[in-house]
Amino acid sequence: MNKYQTNSLFVTEDVQQSKCSHIIRVAFESGADTQFDYLVPDELWPIVAGQRVETPFGRKNKLEKGFCVEVVGQGQEHKGTKKGREFKLKKVCRIIDKEPLLDAALMELAKWISGYYVCPLGQVLAAMVPGAVKKGAGVKTEKQIYIARGVEEVIGKLRGEKQKQIVEYLQRKKAFNSDSAVELQGLLAELNCTRTSVKRLAEKQVVKITQKTILKSLPAIPAGMAIRTDRVVLNQEQQKALAHFNAEIETGLFGVTLLYGVTDSGKTELYIRAIDRVLQKGRSAIVLLPEIALTTQTVQRFSARFEKIAVMHSGLTAAQRNVQWQKIRNDEADVVIGARSAVFAPLPSPGLIVVDEEHEPSYKQDTAPRYNARDVAIKRAQLSKAHCILGSATPSLEALFNSRSKKHFSLVRLPKRVMDLAFPEMRLVDLRYGFHTKEGISLISQPLAEHLKEVLAKGEQAILLLNRRGYSNFVFCPSCRYTLHCRNCDVTLTFHKSPLKGAGRMRTVTGKHMDYGFAVCHYCGAQTLVPQACPLCGAGLAMIGFGSQRLEGELARRFPQARISRVDSDSMAGRDYYHVLRDFSECRIDILAGTQMLAKGLHFPNVTLVGIISADTCLYLPDFRANERTFQLISQVAGRAGRSVKKGMVFVQTFLPDQPAIQFALKNDFDGFIQEELKHRRACNLPPFWRLAGLIMRDRNFDKLQAASDAMREKVDNVIRRDNLKVTVRGPMPAVISRIQRFHRMQIIIQAPQAETMQRLFTSLRADLWRLRPAVKVAIDIDPVNLL
Ligand code: ADP
Ligand code: ZN
Repeated sequence: MNKYQTNSLFVTEDVQQSKCSHIIRVAFESGADTQFDYLVPDELWPIVAGQRVETPFGRKNKLEKGFCVEVVGQGQEHKGTKKGREFKLKKVCRIIDKEPLLDAALMELAKWISGYYVCPLGQVLAAMVPGAVKKGAGVKTEKQIYIARGVEEVIGKLRGEKQKQIVEYLQRKKAFNSDSAVELQGLLAELNCTRTSVKRLAEKQVVKITQKTILKSLPAIPAGMAIRTDRVVLNQEQQKALAHFNAEIETGLFGVTLLYGVTDSGKTELYIRAIDRVLQKGRSAIVLLPEIALTTQTVQRFSARFEKIAVMHSGLTAAQRNVQWQKIRNDEADVVIGARSAVFAPLPSPGLIVVDEEHEPSYKQDTAPRYNARDVAIKRAQLSKAHCILGSATPSLEALFNSRSKKHFSLVRLPKRVMDLAFPEMRLVDLRYGFHTKEGISLISQPLAEHLKEVLAKGEQAILLLNRRGYSNFVFCPSCRYTLHCRNCDVTLTFHKSPLKGAGRMRTVTGKHMDYGFAVCHYCGAQTLVPQACPLCGAGLAMIGFGSQRLEGELARRFPQARISRVDSDSMAGRDYYHVLRDFSECRIDILAGTQMLAKGLHFPNVTLVGIISADTCLYLPDFRANERTFQLISQVAGRAGRSVKKGMVFVQTFLPDQPAIQFALKNDFDGFIQEELKHRRACNLPPFWRLAGLIMRDRNFDKLQAASDAMREKVDNVIRRDNLKVTVRGPMPAVISRIQRFHRMQIIIQAPQAETMQRLFTSLRADLWRLRPAVKVAIDIDPVNLL
């Protein structure tokens, strides 16, 4: 049991005897999709929604922690009914949190998420509070001491020298009540006395001793990276946009603005000004950024402008995270910056929620609750009568569509880069010619290589992007066509030069092994040494495709003088990334090569060349958003070039030069792309016109899975028939990745013309689903960001 909990209100045995006048409803994290009623012993009362309690659960009365979600009744009602039979309600054993972890508004948000994303309420609530907070990470209890009231007379009569010293010390420190109490340990050390004297004083009731929980104070924002904080003069478009935000904020009503502004059009500057206004109105703000952007200069830009700022991202230690969260809850922060889950920051009255890069798929959580933080942000804004700004240079089709068609939504455009910076010049390199050279496959085409040489000669910098980790994407035998597959998943293994940290246990494949090289599964993390020869026919193995490690190798070989750094999720954790970026911004690195981590929110004035090694990587994915992702990737990366007066150049290498997404991106023609893509989406009843939901069933036993999937389809069909719903159902069919971690995967895809129709379908299904659940694992994904 940790210290935080010893501080809570305990009653265990005696509670079972005591009188109960209230009943609460409790949602459990581990429980099924339902809630349970409990009696509250009078000595534990009051309890409010948002506090956690510990209760006996199940037949064995195992103690479980759950959230109180509602007070449901009063009076000595010891009975409940279940399936028509009466039974006795059990009693709450203890209250875990002195204060509710979630306030009424967040509880309401939780219920909405639970309904909309078809996820048990207990699971939603658990996800809304960081684990570090629930565990009380970084919290210690401390004894404190102060002088009791009305004891002057007793003090005058004190005889012990040490006792007098202690009293004088406390008088000097003005420790006259529990708020001004001083830490006992420090006092003892400073006066060089023992606990006995304190004990004597306490017996005479001269001093009082209290227990306090103290949060360690820890810096959350790494100092460093130089940023310009001077106030710029807004250009005309920015001024118009700001006037719009200010007017919206002034109303104190719910509204959403899509801020569609090209990279470097000054969006972030506008968020900052809008926050200023919200703070003036006495309210607070949340800024959501993709995880990776949080490790960059953006956070510094905000912290340079606002004092009471809290930051929440995965680079923090558990203790730091708890400190930040407590700070927010205690009203010591009025601006919260964070990744996805910061949308749940316990600010009492957010007046503005900003979602930067709203199109980012990483806002969607891929485990239950499968919520999209952008959409939750909109909902939260609605519940708290706040304004919500969605910012992007390449807005999602959903956001664009809503901004044109929905009430409360508006669209603001920033079509120009600040200070009339020129857009970088885009150049297409057709890889169908000249990919294979005399030396074998080369990832850097001749035109790109030549330009890179010039850039380096001028002392400028380059970013090269290859959207794939590892060295090559598969290892294969040219003579018998054998490829190395993951034994757990239906995917080929990726060749890595070094083993992955934290990946699965190493297994060896038969035969001799290369003295370097590991085949790694990017889905389950399993890795094996790569055999020297094909295990089937004995021929030499070849590596096909390419990854960021291979790019790094080729760069080192062809540009031996250049200082090169590779950035991908294998090579670095958040902190290292931060250091590399600092070195790069201070020009100690010439070429940054890496995966899409690089495409986000960086600002480096000396970068004049961006190379996209393979613009097609997303296009090969069998997913309806492949075009959208490709367009986004190219334009986002291109935005990294020429962020200053120096003109930038972007090389886009591709095997599919005629592909529309690539063509439009090259011409920087977002509107053209949107038109083309919307046509296709409308024709196929896809988002943003229709809504989508995916059901993924998985099990190790394929026959069982198939039967369960068929049964699921039948259930869906029954509901559709009964409720006369207009939806399209496809499947069950094997998912694109048909096996992950030895689980076979089947998919059912549902398309509905409206969100309400989808909701009706799932509300009806929900009760049945719960009964089906034990058979196979079912994941429900509402508004999926991909269908893999
Ligand atoms: P975005 O978020 O749209 O990429 P930023 O707000 O980050 O754009 O602006 C890019 C850079 O231009 C930042 O360094 C910012 O301080 C600066 N900037 C923003 N607005 C102006 C302006 N009106 N005049 C000059 N510089 C500006
Ligand atoms: Zn695997």
